[in-house]
Amino acid sequence: MDAPARLGNGRVAVTEYLEIDLGSETWHCRRCRHALGSARRSYKEGCLVHARDPRTLYPPEVEGERYSFAPDPTLCLLVEFYCPGCGTLVETEALPPGHPPSHDIELDLDSLRRRAASEAKP
Ligand SMILES: [Zn+2]
Repeated sequence: MDAPARLGNGRVAVTEYLEIDLGSETWHCRRCRHALGSARRSYKEGCLVHARDPRTLYPPEVEGERYSFAPDPTLCLLVEFYCPGCGTLVETEALPPGHPPSHDIELDLDSLRRRAASEAKP
């Protein structure tokens, strides 16, 4: 993953759809700026979640056949995370049923703040 990119006004882009406001230490959607919770916790806690049966995305290759490339839904669900403000699909991950979402992004906010302050000096 590339280093977060500065957007100005104390905001840094983390992914295509996520940014952090270093002043308030909050995650935000980059499309609509909806707040997604504390940047010291997982952004997924602020998202709408839809756990999908993989068979709804990978239909059988042959109509009427039960075999497909879809993972077994008793072993794997495709979990989608959406922005509650605009409905943008922020992230997707494959998880065993009942497994908590992964904490996939944890940034050193204090270092980001120091870097932003040093880049702002002339
Ligand atoms: Zn949004």
